[in-house]
Amino acid sequence: MNQTLQGIGMTSRRTRERMINRLSEQGIISNKVLDVMRNTPRHIFMDEALASRAYEDTALPIGHNQTISQPYIVAKMTELLLERGPLENVLEIGTGCGYQTAILAQLVDRVYSVERILALQRKAKGHLWELKLKNVSYLHSDGGWGWPDYAPFDGILVSAAPSEVPEMLLQQMAVGGVMVIPIGKCGSQELQRITRTENSYEFEKVEPVSFVPFLSGRE
Ligand code: SAH
Repeated sequence: MNQTLQGIGMTSRRTRERMINRLSEQGIISNKVLDVMRNTPRHIFMDEALASRAYEDTALPIGHNQTISQPYIVAKMTELLLERGPLENVLEIGTGCGYQTAILAQLVDRVYSVERILALQRKAKGHLWELKLKNVSYLHSDGGWGWPDYAPFDGILVSAAPSEVPEMLLQQMAVGGVMVIPIGKCGSQELQRITRTENSYEFEKVEPVSFVPFLSGRE
């Protein structure tokens, strides 16, 4: 790995290891998720001025009024998505800077990632390219429509909070598929896991969370 990817000082491997210890203390138990987060440089996903804070457990700005999700949330959502076994094709809504995408890409066969802000999508593509993660397809679109061409998905992960689950996303779940999604208005959102059964959907409430809103249209 070159020096930028490897990191030095506040972006070093040791700092990353401290993040992993904190995630374990916070209740993340999946070794697969912890290993992938240990080996993925988070600092390359943000502007240089903020790189030294990349391993703090906090959401940080990535421009366009958006934030990179805090490490705990990325770990928790990934763990919930994968808990019942390996997944082949996963739809991600809200690529943002691409960090969550990079984690998913190392744990599932293929990621289909949708982002409504073109400038963010372009940057994310660059970061994933740098990490040589090539099993990701990108779409510039309103994620409320999902990505019908590649449906059904056995996993869906949504990184922005709608007030209700978009109908199209429910329709694009495979039977037995899992969706992890924050739901609710600013100040009262809850992370939920939805499982599609033969003839209905099961909803599990996980914990209160704070995400940027799920917006319609494209920029
Ligand atoms: N996982 C990302 C989270 C970024 S914040 C990261 O860690 O960087 C949430 C992202 O969802 C933002 O980039 C925002 O533009 C995007 N978003 C919000 N509503 C959306 C929608 N309807 N369709 C697609 N992307 C959406």
